Amino acid sequence: MCGIVGYIGHKKAYPILVKGLQRLEYRGYDSAGVALISDGGHLNVYKAKGKVADLEAYCEDKDTTGCAGIAHTRWATHGEPSSTNAHPHYSASGRLALIHNGIIENYLTLKEKLISFGIPFKSVTDTEVLVQLIEHVMLSNSLTLLEAVQVALHQVIGAYAIAILDREHPDGIVCARQSSPLVVGLGADGDFYLASDASPIAEYTDTVAYLNDGDIAVLQLGQELKVVNIDNEAQHPKVKQIDVTLGQLEKGGYPFFMLKEIFEQPACLRDCMRGRINVDADRITLSAVIDYRECLVSARRIVIVACGTSWHAGLIGKQLIESLCRIPVEVEYASEFRYRDPVIYPDDVVIAISQSGETADTLAAIELARQAGAFVFGVCNAIGASIPRQTQTGVYIHVGPEIGVASTKAFTGQVTVLSMLALCIAHERGTIRDDQYREMVRELTLIPAKMEEALLRNEQIERLAPIFTYARNCLYLGRGYNYPVALEGALKLKEISYIHAEGYPAAEMKHGPIALIDSEMPVFVIATRDHLYDKVISNIQEVRARGGRITAIVTEGDTQIQKFADHIIVLPDTFECFQPLIASIPLQLLAYHIAVCKGKDVDRPRNLAKSVTVE
Ligand code: GLU
Repeated sequence: MCGIVGYIGHKKAYPILVKGLQRLEYRGYDSAGVALISDGGHLNVYKAKGKVADLEAYCEDKDTTGCAGIAHTRWATHGEPSSTNAHPHYSASGRLALIHNGIIENYLTLKEKLISFGIPFKSVTDTEVLVQLIEHVMLSNSLTLLEAVQVALHQVIGAYAIAILDREHPDGIVCARQSSPLVVGLGADGDFYLASDASPIAEYTDTVAYLNDGDIAVLQLGQELKVVNIDNEAQHPKVKQIDVTLGQLEKGGYPFFMLKEIFEQPACLRDCMRGRINVDADRITLSAVIDYRECLVSARRIVIVACGTSWHAGLIGKQLIESLCRIPVEVEYASEFRYRDPVIYPDDVVIAISQSGETADTLAAIELARQAGAFVFGVCNAIGASIPRQTQTGVYIHVGPEIGVASTKAFTGQVTVLSMLALCIAHERGTIRDDQYREMVRELTLIPAKMEEALLRNEQIERLAPIFTYARNCLYLGRGYNYPVALEGALKLKEISYIHAEGYPAAEMKHGPIALIDSEMPVFVIATRDHLYDKVISNIQEVRARGGRITAIVTEGDTQIQKFADHIIVLPDTFECFQPLIASIPLQLLAYHIAVCKGKDVDRPRNLAKSVTVE
């Protein structure tokens, strides 16, 4: 969601902060701001509605000196996007400036109390309450900033990652986290970096400390990193080496990160399988399955919790696990699961899927599952994020940082991990024959090469895209394994082109959406050759009979569907259960090219955030 960047050290802070915000731009936001303690000792705050470029333009004639600063991109939860509501927020006296990611749930009560003490508020955000509360506590009790933060956070209910600058102490930054991510980078020269994730830090240092919930860190120049909790007990966050390369954070010649990430998928899936699939022996080894074999093999039921694209990956995981392992699987929206008082058994396995590993609702669902005694397994991309730390075990998808807000390579990475997991568990449970298991493992290793073939359709899809830019609504149809592919295809289109789209099980269409079909309505049908192929042809006929315009995704060698479809996109054949990995590619490309034709900012679609750290 929003991005936090901080720096204190020997270099000029402003360029580091702005570059850091740009690296976090993919997370989605509506305004940006920066606070700097200038060489002259002033605490300057500059804010602008819009993009980081707007902030830079605003700062052009401003004093941007100083070696200490904090910066923020906001994704509004309380109060419209505006320069007043943007962060950083000053304290009433102008001594402190604070940035915040998250939501303060009891902000109204706190605000009323502070107003009764005569403290003025400028914005309507929940965040401003924090800075006023901290300063009020600090000045009325003659406390240090750290002590004031500790006292104030005792009163705060909600989720936060915060960073604070104090004009009176220009050589330090105090920051804290509770349910929102925060990473501290330790520079070789004693400089400190601070960010919501490691991407803005990676070019300066590879040594980072991931703060844990409840941690308050003091970044004091010339001193070691100090981390305590609100009761002033020393904390010891793990210091790790990160191996994010700069190339992974840049576009590498592509016009958008999304296109780069679509094309990276074959390489990403090879990385995802590397070391896990032994090609010679046709065997999959997942350490999580070895270490927790009993829990996984004897699961009475599996519950998958996820949101958005990860939820679609979960739907594919359900079909894989049910058909290969014969274990019943339920797929739940984490946001519904957490508030529904669900039935959870101690012998359930809960699989939590999230690209960022910070999705607030998924984290809450994990907590609920843990309290009920279930075994919790994480599937995540971001190394060291909250989900891998809060689950008993899990599997990283290892597809590298995903910057485009609309998920592509993380989706296929999640499906690949779920495929490997299902095959491993099935093999351990004996619900799959050995020859069948080996054949499927072998086919999985061929998927990256088949994806490369599917990517060759890019030019054809680019040529088709302008036809669909006029559309106001689109329908995506699929059955079996291709039903979640239809849902994901529709979601991609909605996210980046703002055309309304619906994914539907093809046969279910006649129970409602068929009423929408006319010659204005593009219908995309995933009609690859599988056991439902003939049924899908009938569904295509139903659309055709009502004047619908069909673009079909078919398997090479198909001779039937071209008779009924306006356009066909041909894909290489694979096993039915791996078809989503191939069939997703043309749908990602279609959404991408339609959005580009419409002139949209593909990497930063309006209103969306990459890492949804609020519920
Ligand atoms: N709740 C805060 C606001 O609306 C912070 C939002 C964010 O995480 O960007 O200002």
